Amino acid sequence: MEAFKPHLSGLSAYPYKKVEAPIKLDQNESPWDLPADLKERALSRMRETPWNRYPDMHAEAVRALVARHQDWPEEGVVVAPGSNFLVLALALAANRVLDTVPSFAFYEGAARLAGTPFEAVPLSEGFGLPAEALLARMGAPAGVLFLAVPHAPTGALFPEAEVRRLAERAREKGWLFAVDEAYFQFSGTDHRGLARENPSVVLLRTFSKAFGLGGVRAGYLLARPEVAGKLQAMLPPFDVPAHTAAVLATVLEAPERAREAAARLVAERDRMIAALGRHPSWVAHPSRANFFLVRTPDAEAAWKGLLEAGVLVRRQDHLPGLKGCLRVSVGTPAENDAFLKAAAALR
Ligand SMILES: *Cc1c(COP(=O)(O)O)cnc(C)c1O
Repeated sequence: MEAFKPHLSGLSAYPYKKVEAPIKLDQNESPWDLPADLKERALSRMRETPWNRYPDMHAEAVRALVARHQDWPEEGVVVAPGSNFLVLALALAANRVLDTVPSFAFYEGAARLAGTPFEAVPLSEGFGLPAEALLARMGAPAGVLFLAVPHAPTGALFPEAEVRRLAERAREKGWLFAVDEAYFQFSGTDHRGLARENPSVVLLRTFSKAFGLGGVRAGYLLARPEVAGKLQAMLPPFDVPAHTAAVLATVLEAPERAREAAARLVAERDRMIAALGRHPSWVAHPSRANFFLVRTPDAEAAWKGLLEAGVLVRRQDHLPGLKGCLRVSVGTPAENDAFLKAAAALR
């Protein structure tokens, strides 16, 4: 392996072990496939697209659609095959990466892969935003601060005033503040206003969650044109497949479908958290996303007990501050009932 850069010597593949179970509440996916009529429309678009031809070099048509939909200048939009690629591009470009802990694992993963210096600040009590500690680290050299809002994997939503303070510091010190809005449809929040006012704010969004397109691979970034142009230049040409473009054009014609699905999941999330309030030993944390954390006396036993009942959730107890925690994605009402029934029988 002498051919490879030394910083890659400790690198290993993303630690996800696939487990089969009838009820899959472990990846924050939408429990519903794309409705059949939309799938049919996307398929006919695919049929009409020549498969022998390369797609747009930089997904120009999809960018234009996203720009129109998001009321954002086209030069400020970057579309990629998953927002993970945009995280990677940001981490590659950055002098340094600042993160919270626990956090979405790929911010650190991308920084390690890029060989970019990485620092993370623990969340404060009750999964709060450690604003002072983050502000204190935002000096020279400038870098990129990643923050999922609502936060992952805690589901917590931070006070807007604190988010704004971080954005202000980013502007003062030349940092970029990447607000990852992977779950914004479930929290009813939207940082486009902040990003319009403050050119240091970059938004990351995905089609994998509320749009129910985890298998299609698409995400986008909204930023000022200068930043978007640089990140676009870092992505390989033709990276958004014609098939993905066909699906995105279809779902963007009917965005109310994603809104309705998100509203149903929000109601289910709140129902599940309320029901767990009656559990003798498990404590569900409040969440504004399509998942929530539940603290159990023994994460391994709880995880196994749920799996025996056919329900797969994600262990998070290896993360700092998350002892005993499982992360539960919100599923269909029937799946959620099965989870609640299994949980009620466990201690
Ligand atoms: C699921 C998720 C994403 C989505 O990544 P894609 O590559 O677009 O599927 C991004 N950020 C966070 C915090 C997530 O949880």
